[in-house]
Amino acid sequence: MSTIKEPSFRESVDLMFNRAVALMDLPPGLEEKIRVCNATYTVRFGVRLRGEIKTFTGYRSVHSEHMEPVKGGIRFAMGVNQDEVEALAALMTYKCALVEAPFGGSKGGLRIDPRQYDEHELERITRRFAYELAKRDLIHPSQNVPAPDMGTGEREMAWMADQYARMNTTDINARACVTGKPLNAGGIAGRVEATGRGVQYALQEFFREPLDIQKAGLSGSLDGKRVIVQGLGNVGYHAAKFLSEEDGCKIIGVIERDGALFSPDGIDVDAVQQWLAKNGGVSGFPDATYTENGAAILEEDCDILIPAALEGVINLGNADNIKAPLIIEAANGPITAGADNILRKKGTVIIPDMYANAGGVTVSYFEWVKNLSHIRFGRMQRRQEEARHQLVVDELEQISAALGGQYKLTDGFKQKYLRGAGELELVRSGLDDTMRIAYQSMRDVWHSRDDVEDLRTAAYLVSIEKVAASYRAKGL
Ligand code: NAD
Repeated sequence: MSTIKEPSFRESVDLMFNRAVALMDLPPGLEEKIRVCNATYTVRFGVRLRGEIKTFTGYRSVHSEHMEPVKGGIRFAMGVNQDEVEALAALMTYKCALVEAPFGGSKGGLRIDPRQYDEHELERITRRFAYELAKRDLIHPSQNVPAPDMGTGEREMAWMADQYARMNTTDINARACVTGKPLNAGGIAGRVEATGRGVQYALQEFFREPLDIQKAGLSGSLDGKRVIVQGLGNVGYHAAKFLSEEDGCKIIGVIERDGALFSPDGIDVDAVQQWLAKNGGVSGFPDATYTENGAAILEEDCDILIPAALEGVINLGNADNIKAPLIIEAANGPITAGADNILRKKGTVIIPDMYANAGGVTVSYFEWVKNLSHIRFGRMQRRQEEARHQLVVDELEQISAALGGQYKLTDGFKQKYLRGAGELELVRSGLDDTMRIAYQSMRDVWHSRDDVEDLRTAAYLVSIEKVAASYRAKGL
């Protein structure tokens, strides 16, 4: 174990930022302006629960307002603190710039263990927190638009949106005040799966590039790759499910709060998720070997490691032992700056968080646009598209008949071709396009500059350049 001090999460983000700006030619004042967090609001509020007043502490941090609204999730966890929300808000700025979502960066959190409260209690706490934020325009369709993060999901977003609407009864765009809402409360198809889906699209794009595969010391396609995932929550579950069901990956390890499951033959992700939901942990799951020391499984031999739970899990203490040649950061900040140096020197390829988990904010962007336009994606075009495709199919069938009928369109083809795109297809297409373009923008920098060793630095270079351009255009 190294004796070098491990930086905090925010220091880690700053160190990575500094490494990138050292390769740029920004005026020092602008560099500092982009790096610092603009403001962090701390609120303490009381809620009467079980006959006594309980005080909660929450934060909403705004990192950069070069574009507004600012955007970023709200986390419910005991570990929430100012350092963490500021680091996460900074990552949001760079993430939005990288995937061209027109937002500044923000993040929020409430120090709470949501598992200690029933649904009714959680609703009262969430509404009260939302009230405190909305009162100060820290929830607002054109100022600050939260989304789900660890410990929150559709349910909490619906409460927050409703709370905002109650406080702003004449705001026609009230639904655009938060994203990640359920479909029946102004949400969008494909938002729940979006971050995990984005991780899948990111890996698919990586595996389209032979040079990048080779850099990671791997070969072939995603098919058959051995994957270990940490955290089977929203992001980890969807990533593992899609990679195993659609790309042929084998999930050999699943790490959760209470330990880890390991099986070289592959683990059924849905079965583990159901077990987890029922039993609150992975221990006792019958079809894999259980280990209480979950972190040890991070060090197992595999092709792709997907940390999808917490920050700082790969650190100075274990970086030397990590065997995975390719790590995709589905969580925010899972690798500390010190560990990043060690892994880079070893040649480990890291697909960085600001890109890897940008699927969530990308589809949140689509949801926000849907809310502001007050119409579901695909509603105007779908049937017209189907009618035009029908014309082509009819014509081809006539030609086929004229040729004696030996060339026939298959039913499978007709079924797929005739179906017009609904909202889900459009959202997935927009997400796939975003992930491909953003990957290529990082990759171009990675391969074209001798002084850029890794994808993370490349990602910072691309995004900082965009943020700087936006400040310059504003005349700052
Ligand atoms: P979640 O609450 O749905 O899931 C987190 C999972 O991690 C849970 O299953 C939890 O039991 C597990 N976990 C907690 N502590 C653990 C530990 N010490 N070891 C192993 N597992 C542990 O959260 P989520 O929304 O999936 O978020 C996970 C990560 O992804 C976070 O870093 C978050 O910031 C990031 N992220 C989430 C989204 C999103 O859309 N939800 C978007 C971008 C980034």
